[in-house]
Amino acid sequence: MKISKCFEPHNSIGKEEMRAVKSVMRSGELSRFLGSKHPDFNGGKKIQEFEEKWASYFETNHALSVNSATSGLIAALGAIGIEPGDEVITSPWTMSATAMAILHWNAIPIFADIDPETFCISAKSIDSKITPRTKVILAVDVFGQSCEMIEIMNLAARYKLKVISDTSQAPGALYQNKFAGTIADIGVFSLNYHKHIHTGEGGVVVTNNSDVAERIRLIRNHGESVIETDNSINLVNIVGYNFRMGEIEAAIGIEQLKKLKSIVNQRQENASQFNQILMDLPGVVTPKVPEENTHAYYVYPLKIVKDKMRVNKFVLAEELKKNGILGISTKYQNLHLLPIFQKKIAYGSAGFPWTLETVKTDYSKGLCPIAEELQDISYLGFYMGGYALNGQTSRKIANSMATVLAKYVQ
Ligand SMILES: *Cc1c(COP(=O)(O)O)cnc(C)c1O
Repeated sequence: MKISKCFEPHNSIGKEEMRAVKSVMRSGELSRFLGSKHPDFNGGKKIQEFEEKWASYFETNHALSVNSATSGLIAALGAIGIEPGDEVITSPWTMSATAMAILHWNAIPIFADIDPETFCISAKSIDSKITPRTKVILAVDVFGQSCEMIEIMNLAARYKLKVISDTSQAPGALYQNKFAGTIADIGVFSLNYHKHIHTGEGGVVVTNNSDVAERIRLIRNHGESVIETDNSINLVNIVGYNFRMGEIEAAIGIEQLKKLKSIVNQRQENASQFNQILMDLPGVVTPKVPEENTHAYYVYPLKIVKDKMRVNKFVLAEELKKNGILGISTKYQNLHLLPIFQKKIAYGSAGFPWTLETVKTDYSKGLCPIAEELQDISYLGFYMGGYALNGQTSRKIANSMATVLAKYVQ
């Protein structure tokens, strides 16, 4: 079989989702949220059912649906009472939404470096960035595996910080037998088209804290219009959003959630085929997963050892593509190097919110050497989500990859 034949597009939307959508269509109630004091303030039947099922699957007290993970991150930061000028420590090796959610509250993103083996933000680097202004650690479970949560939660306890997990890329991954995203104070999942399971667009926020859950419900749905309070704390950060998910998406989400386990299992099986074939190739480092954890493989990340290869990773990627291996990427993100941070221009033209800073935040190149080295030299990723891979096709692709890469070993 030709390699390109192995790349049938993955499509997890089936009869089940179609049936669920039709039933919502027939009911005529495509959303039942009301932004005022009313039993429908928290959404309709499918929203309620989806949230109950998500909370039960992930073993959390609360799951709140939202219209994207970006909205979920904004709601999560708002709900824990972030203030303008607060510092939030996060990873540069993530999608921009993670850092934008921080800026959104006029708080300051502080970038800590990542672990060279898991690509997740490292507790040691977080520790070195904590100041009296730090309020939150926004840890990103990147590529499909959890951050080192015990170490991160210990730091948070020591410095009285809150922790939010951006688990958009790791639904169903385990950290010491608990689901990634459920150890932090709040976890955020994405249901956009590129993620393991999707509703087109969508997201879910999980927490065990009832007060936080209630604040997320208020932020999600014009909460300012329903709060009657003598206590000004209750009003903090409830400022007029609509982050609601519709009934159609919720109905799709209920069916997609049933498929999560098998999708993650299949990706683990595919990755083990890749590992077996690529592991012994000189010049290539396959993903490391600490023994007590599992990886959900949003991306299968390889590292190229520069001194062992005759050409750089950009040439290798071109060669892989020429040989029919799609889904290869040479870069991810170094968010601190984006113009928005280099120029410190976000809200208005005068540099707000950085004009709130008492100590100037450093976003210069060299700030996160491990993330920068990965970006410039060693990282080569394979996006596992786009293709209907099974064990056999994964073996074929990995074999072709190995043949191409072996040609360039020194
Ligand atoms: C996809 C993604 C997001 C944003 O998700 P949306 O649902 O598209 O808003 C945020 N963070 C990470 C790490 C992501 O991969």
